[in-house]
Amino acid sequence: MPIYEFECRECAGVSSHLFRSDTRMEDVRCKACGSARVEKILSRIAVHKDLSSQLSGLDPKYDKMVDATVAKQPGSDPDRLLRKMKPFK
Ligand SMILES: [Zn+2]
Repeated sequence: MPIYEFECRECAGVSSHLFRSDTRMEDVRCKACGSARVEKILSRIAVHKDLSSQLSGLDPKYDKMVDATVAKQPGSDPDRLLRKMKPFK
């Protein structure tokens, strides 16, 4: 569910609103004064990190977990097919 921030045109208060599927933009009211004259602003919360900063923020143990999981997959061993091959006679 997205979270949007709205700035009030009456009192300049900023409030965050969680949008469920049934939430309509015109239902949003300023949480400080109740005014409907609010304008959507770019949320500090909803700004997504780019992928590289997300990855660098991950715990290094996930690297090992991914490696261990991949190693268990049958297709991950490049020599698997070579071992099944029989030389021509
Ligand atoms: Zn307000």
